[in-house]
Amino acid sequence: MNNSAINILILDDEPFMHKLLIRMLANLGFISASACDNGHVALELIDSQEACPDLILLDLNMPEMDGLEFVRRLVERHFTGSLILVSGEDERMQQAAEKLAKAHRITVLGHLHKPPSPEGLAGLIGKWLPPSQNESREESTVYGADELRAAIANGELVNYYQPKVAVATRRVVGVETLVRWRHPVDGMVFPDQFIGVAEAHGLIDDLTRAVLAEALAQAKLWQDAGLMLQVAVNLSMDNLSSLDFLEVVAVLAAKAGVPPQMMELEVTESRLMQDLRIPLEILTRLRLKRFRLSIDDFGIGNSSLAQLRDLPFDELKIDQSFVHGAWENEKLRAMFDHSLGLAKQLGMEVVAEGVEDQADWDFVRKSGCDIAQGYFIARPMPAADLPGWMQSWHRGTPASNRHI
Ligand code: C2E
Ligand code: CA
Ligand code: CA
Repeated sequence: MNNSAINILILDDEPFMHKLLIRMLANLGFISASACDNGHVALELIDSQEACPDLILLDLNMPEMDGLEFVRRLVERHFTGSLILVSGEDERMQQAAEKLAKAHRITVLGHLHKPPSPEGLAGLIGKWLPPSQNESREESTVYGADELRAAIANGELVNYYQPKVAVATRRVVGVETLVRWRHPVDGMVFPDQFIGVAEAHGLIDDLTRAVLAEALAQAKLWQDAGLMLQVAVNLSMDNLSSLDFLEVVAVLAAKAGVPPQMMELEVTESRLMQDLRIPLEILTRLRLKRFRLSIDDFGIGNSSLAQLRDLPFDELKIDQSFVHGAWENEKLRAMFDHSLGLAKQLGMEVVAEGVEDQADWDFVRKSGCDIAQGYFIARPMPAADLPGWMQSWHRGTPASNRHI
């Protein structure tokens, strides 16, 4: 589609904004624009297939139906177009609204403060793509339990490893194991598409056991080659529902010949557990056996203060959503500093996740955080690629984007 033919709808209760935006759009060459002043009328337009807009410029604060309620109605209608928020609300509100809409898998090109500038508007419209090319909305395949069970049994799961480096010295201190499914038809499938299935169908213990066994075998190979890398593995809370799991971990590590100090277990409490007694016992006893414990995704979901209080963690990972861009965002920086200070006070090592670019790296270095992980350093990679990456990292060559 020729971009100037994008069908744009302005939804705002102020007629003044209609005039302003329509004129601005026309000057930018977008001639198919219309406006309405309340959500009900806009929804009628959307329901009539031929007039359904490709892009909506949405106000948040409107008397009858506010912008967020409107977004909810769009979700019910499986709206496939895009949104730009144009509102007088402050930056925090705009960011929150944008996040909410994205969580509903609606494509949001960005937000603008009123009155918007023509450059700002042009910049965001420039990001518009037809629905078929919009990745964020692509429904990801949900895999069935039988297919996943077979994949685990057939060894279709493979471990990728993402380096963790000491911020002060650039030394590679360890790797995080991230599982992938080499699907015979669909290619590489990411964990977000199957960990939930594994948890829901009682396959997570088998999955974790496979990941752990491969990670331990790899840790031993690195160890024998003189690479002292701490190897982290992600656990699901469901792994911690039966005391047997404790033995599984201890026995696998002993069999592989890897000292527990070299293994790290990353835990995130993805949903509220009814009874924390068993997970607490397992984690505390793993710690007694000298396995290292790491609290993952700190600051989001339920990875929080209660866990810090109750468990002897060695490491805290500040979630990537508080790291990337924190240098330019006061709110993120406040969350980052708070988590860092808390962990330091409790004597824990701190990892900043989601270090994506030079600005993030510089910020993390100045912050006094111990360890960094993220695309700027390296993407997760197969074990075989690690030695080559380490060489270029130590030569100071910028991270390549070869790996997925
Ligand atoms: P996580 O533990 O928070 O892992 C970090 C995720 O962020 C990984 O996604 C990694 O590829 C991605 N990442 C790394 N650096 C950056 C960066 O700079 N920017 C951005 N935007 N992302 C970055 P991945 O591999 O898709 O894994 C997603 C989640 O799946 C993991 O989040 C973890 O919770 C879960 N997971 C992965 N492997 C396993 C596993 O073996 N068992 C369990 N239970 N969960 C796993
Ligand atoms: Ca993790
Ligand atoms: Ca994480």
